[in-house]
Amino acid sequence: MDIKDQLDRNVIRTRTCWLWHGSLDRHGYGVVGYRGRQWKVHRLALLLLGVDLTDLEVDHLCRTRNCVRPEHLEPVTVAQNRLRKTGQRASARRPHVLLKPGSVAAQRWARRSPQIPI
Ligand SMILES: [Zn+2]
Repeated sequence: MDIKDQLDRNVIRTRTCWLWHGSLDRHGYGVVGYRGRQWKVHRLALLLLGVDLTDLEVDHLCRTRNCVRPEHLEPVTVAQNRLRKTGQRASARRPHVLLKPGSVAAQRWARRSPQIPI
């Protein structure tokens, strides 16, 4: 089967994102075997469109890790991607996901926001 058909068969297109329903890696990114190696699906989707990803990472503008919609994917340098992740963390609305359970910071958060369990 053609790799593009294989990708199509495992993608559910919603009104916003194109969601990968095949295998996921432990970080929640779609993965697929192609030409003897394992690829992240969102990278492969761009490569198949002819996008050069040499030395670039792919940032999900929609923040949905298993999304493979090309319009939601932007090639960025490693440094840019790291900056974006930091910004995202600083503005996270649910800080408890970033706190280690039982840590001082987590306990402080729990006292301030008892309705949100850690
Ligand atoms: Zn998306």
